[in-house]
Amino acid sequence: MAIKKQILLECTNCGTVIDFKEFKGLCPQCGENIVEARYELEKINPTEWLAQIKNRPPTLWRYHEVLPIFDTDNIVSLDEGGTPLIKSHALGASLGLNHLYLKDERQGPTGSFKDRQATVAVTALKEMAVDDVVVASTGNVAIAYAAYGARAGIHLWAFFPQLTPNDKMREAGIYGAEIIKTTGTYDQTKELAANFARAKGLFLDKGIKSVAATEAMKTMAYEIGEQLGVILEDGKRWRAPDWFLQGVSGGLGPIGIAKGFREMLGFGLIDKLPAFGLIQSSGCAPMVEAFNRGQRVATPIETSDSVIVTLATGNPGRAYEILYDYVQENGGHFESASDEEAFNAIRVLARLDGISVEPATGVTFAGLIRMVRQGLIKPDDVVVINVSGHTLPVEKRILGEQWQKVLDLSRASTTAPVPEDDLNLAVSQIEGTLRRVVVIEDNEAAARLMSRILESRKNSEVYLAHNGESGLNIIREIHPDLVITDLMMPDVDGFKVIETMRGDETLRDIPIVVVSAKELTTKERTFLSENTDMMLQKGSFIDDDFLEILIDKLN
Ligand SMILES: *Cc1c(COP(=O)(O)O)cnc(C)c1O
Ligand SMILES: [Zn+2]
Repeated sequence: MAIKKQILLECTNCGTVIDFKEFKGLCPQCGENIVEARYELEKINPTEWLAQIKNRPPTLWRYHEVLPIFDTDNIVSLDEGGTPLIKSHALGASLGLNHLYLKDERQGPTGSFKDRQATVAVTALKEMAVDDVVVASTGNVAIAYAAYGARAGIHLWAFFPQLTPNDKMREAGIYGAEIIKTTGTYDQTKELAANFARAKGLFLDKGIKSVAATEAMKTMAYEIGEQLGVILEDGKRWRAPDWFLQGVSGGLGPIGIAKGFREMLGFGLIDKLPAFGLIQSSGCAPMVEAFNRGQRVATPIETSDSVIVTLATGNPGRAYEILYDYVQENGGHFESASDEEAFNAIRVLARLDGISVEPATGVTFAGLIRMVRQGLIKPDDVVVINVSGHTLPVEKRILGEQWQKVLDLSRASTTAPVPEDDLNLAVSQIEGTLRRVVVIEDNEAAARLMSRILESRKNSEVYLAHNGESGLNIIREIHPDLVITDLMMPDVDGFKVIETMRGDETLRDIPIVVVSAKELTTKERTFLSENTDMMLQKGSFIDDDFLEILIDKLN
């Protein structure tokens, strides 16, 4: 259905307004190439609009009034968007976060949030009757455009930088795209693709500089607002989170999402804008480095030291300025995390919450862990993470060499009994190292998590107590080898438990480890350092270090 609407573009640099249909790619006044779409929002009655939206299918096209298309018949869709907002239990608990939500963009048709960009951009190309399109991509954009291009009959020329995993290029190739791998960086590849498009007279997709792309990304903000409204307040109104976090390369996602939240604020659908946590890979972190120097302009990075090519934009240009301004106005932080931290975070998230993400998203979770430890993100903050991509094509780096056990059945008879001696030996070893641990923790998910870690790593018997009083009863009864306790609990808190144990001759020598998210006064700190064996911040036990420490205490 053709929709009568006017879309105006406003220059993000000088504010000049241009009609979308007449736009040639640059602001006619100042030459800027990042412009923002403006709709006639005053013509939309928010109450009526919300009622209509509720009855539409849960794809991102339910917000088509605020998307840059003129005829809904042109929509090229694979039912993208409408991804779930999943509450994290175990990871949230281990970080001491009570409201950690995962926007699961892995569930898009090609496994990343680039599906949003592809559906809107390819739809716009169809409206413009474009047959061929050129993109530079580190993988996900090309895969998504290839799939949507195939559906629309648009031919894709995809240029990839050297470090792109073959599996990603192959996936784009499956949909019929032309695959061109360069020996250069991502920034060089973008330039090459632009030259190629110019020489061949083909349409170049400009990514962050394309109106369709930023407008597509903003739909994630609309969905989050709508979903949080249902989760937190029965859907009576929409809600913005306190924090939105994403691993950032060119910045297309957060710029689009910022635009979405601003529009929702304009409609009166939400009452504030979220702070942004923007995480880069420390091997290629031009935004973070500029932010740490207090600068609004980033110094480009020539070569990335990170294997995470998805986040390898060395020169963010104006995108950083826009995000820097957003953070100055609305709060937030730029943080970096190493490849190693990212891979560790992937492992932790997969094991705790059953969600397997790609390295670029691992960077986001590593950044989350850092920001929680720095106290930037508080226990009661509502935090939404863009779970931007699925790990599927790149799982090789995570499990290492020994991930698989091979059973050679060619020679040995499969019916041979297991030698009894070996069996006895194994059992006696297990018995020999059995240790009893009491965990006192009122947060159920955190308690379950700790006991799971302990039970899996060590032949230990774990006793759970949900408050200090029952914890003390168990301790008196079984005389454990180790006590792990939280501090903040109703009635008998952790301090009281420690005091009681240290004052009781029969319990005095049992090692005590404190795990807490509490900010300590000097007095409390002194008390704990004198009376316990170890203090751990919540969140630290998602490191392998934590396990080593505990195993040390047990031996
Ligand atoms: C593209 C991409 C990013 C980075 O997105 P930008 O918003 O463009 O910086 C992060 N994660 C994944 C999985 C991506 O595909
Ligand atoms: Zn301008």
